[in-house]
Amino acid sequence: MKDLKSVLEKYEPVIGLEIHAQLNTKTKAYSSDINEFGAIPNTNVGPVSLGHPGTLPVFNESTLKYAVRLGLACKSEITRDMHFDRKNYFYADLPKGYQITQDKTPICRGGEILIKGDDGKEKSIELTRIHMEEDSGKSIHDMDPFDTLIDLNRAGVPLVEIVTEPVLKSANEAYNYLIEVRKLVRYLEICDGNMEEGSMRCDVNISIMPKGSKEFGQRVEIKNMNSIRNVAKAIEFEIVRHAELLEKGEPIFQETRNFDASTNSTVGMRKKEDAHDYRYFPEPDLTPLHVSQEYIEEQRSSLPPLPNDLFKKYQKELKLSNYDASNLTDSKGIALYFEDLIKETSNYKVAANWMMGSIKSYLNQNALGIEEFPISAKKIAELISAIEEGKINNSVATQKVFPILLENPSKSPLEIAKENNWITQDNSDELENIVLSIFKQNPSETERFKNGEKKLTGFFMGKIMQATKGAADPKTTAQIINKVIQSI
Ligand code: ADP
Ligand code: MG
Repeated sequence: MKDLKSVLEKYEPVIGLEIHAQLNTKTKAYSSDINEFGAIPNTNVGPVSLGHPGTLPVFNESTLKYAVRLGLACKSEITRDMHFDRKNYFYADLPKGYQITQDKTPICRGGEILIKGDDGKEKSIELTRIHMEEDSGKSIHDMDPFDTLIDLNRAGVPLVEIVTEPVLKSANEAYNYLIEVRKLVRYLEICDGNMEEGSMRCDVNISIMPKGSKEFGQRVEIKNMNSIRNVAKAIEFEIVRHAELLEKGEPIFQETRNFDASTNSTVGMRKKEDAHDYRYFPEPDLTPLHVSQEYIEEQRSSLPPLPNDLFKKYQKELKLSNYDASNLTDSKGIALYFEDLIKETSNYKVAANWMMGSIKSYLNQNALGIEEFPISAKKIAELISAIEEGKINNSVATQKVFPILLENPSKSPLEIAKENNWITQDNSDELENIVLSIFKQNPSETERFKNGEKKLTGFFMGKIMQATKGAADPKTTAQIINKVIQSI
């Protein structure tokens, strides 16, 4: 096998992704059957899902709403007049014999997802289209040794398919793109983005061409990837495989391949030549859809804050690092809490540290989501300003006040500090006396310290913290230690 690095010196990969995202509507795309993951097989199935003859689909308006919201978030052009199409093929998990999809009039055209490109800069991944369609049932090949089992709960679940232009250049960019799409659908709350459960699936189209060439190579498609990491692995495997074929002068077939996670390689499934002709035609059982400008504006004005906008705001306006901005926007809940927090404090860096430090570790340790975090943003802001004003020191705040606040979220942080005598002693005279008496109690250490043994600062700091029950402000204390040692 060639190694990827040497291949990339000679060839340029071209990648386009097709993502299927299951919409988390209450009911299915064209019937009132329940749309839920993990139900007992074949329980969420009525005559429409089962494709019984004579049944008629009824369009679920939520599908449209979710697709429009996704399109607006991606700055796509929303199609105002559209219809559905039938895509005909025979398969056991498709009892109707066709899938209702959009061929000629996708709900969204164009648009983009912004990712971090390989050069570290922001890169726009242009979208070709987003269209609405329905999922098929699920064939289960590994539960029965002899037969394939079919679960039709998934039949008719609404999907959006998001198709990119062939503009991704590496496994890493594809990885970043998938992370961004998953984040976006989660912020919009239209799909849970769970690739392992199959609610977001990805087809990878990949080809390579000699560096500098303008003409794309022959592409292959890797179907139904169910993990972001595996997408990256499949791409790396394919890049090397293509290069080896090209160097040997062998043809690359346009084919569909499967990724095998146990060997990190792909295997050919079927050649595109014998792919079906889907005989698309307009779905006669559903009326065409018209989307009014008013409807579009209504959806636009009710969009939640979007991850990329927040990321930029945190970087540019709040001057937070890339690292902080990206951590804070990974999940919508954390970002919204942070939004509340910065309404109450302008000490953004400290606020970010609280989010990523004490708050996140508490949530992780207790396996909680931020929605279940008991302390209000207002109280955390009070704690931050008490530290800023020098009333509580940082370690008292994180190690003592914070745990009590978790148990008594309605109390004020200052009240807690007062009750426990944890208010910082900013009374320097008093602190000077304490320092002086500690020096007296430890004559030999004091002598060595006076003679320049700087590492004893820690020793004295410990004694002072003990004497003040941790309430002394470390910075002031250090200054006072230096002042007092020079005076004795
Ligand atoms: P199909 O419907 O057969 O899958 P499309 O034209 O819709 O074909 O393309 C599907 C995906 O393949 C798109 O994401 C597109 O960007 C990508 N694609 C097209 N040509 C190439 C190529 N030569 N190399 C890599 N990706 C490609
Ligand atoms: Mg395809």
